[in-house]
Amino acid sequence: MRNQEDFIAWHPDKHRSFTVWSAYCLALDEQLRAQGSGASSCRPSGDRPDWKLIWQCAVPPKVRIFGWKLASDSLATQVNMCIRGMEEDPTCTLCGREQEDSFHA
Ligand SMILES: [Zn+2]
Repeated sequence: MRNQEDFIAWHPDKHRSFTVWSAYCLALDEQLRAQGSGASSCRPSGDRPDWKLIWQCAVPPKVRIFGWKLASDSLATQVNMCIRGMEEDPTCTLCGREQEDSFHA
């Protein structure tokens, strides 16, 4: 038992909050599963076999690292820094119109 209020959680996201990116990953996963490719982007174990696609791309290392950070939602966005307690305002500092998550960045 936790001494915490119940809340609505989005299970595909590791932070349990809805993001366009996590919805995209879920839709892509469903599409690949429907095609029977077996190349699901996520496995119950949490493995991501498609990481090889990123790491084997013939692009500069900084582009591979950026792709991995984007796919794993670990870019230093305002939203992620808020989640980690490093920022208080998740609003984009460039446009100021919406939250800066990975998709916005
Ligand atoms: Zn912006």
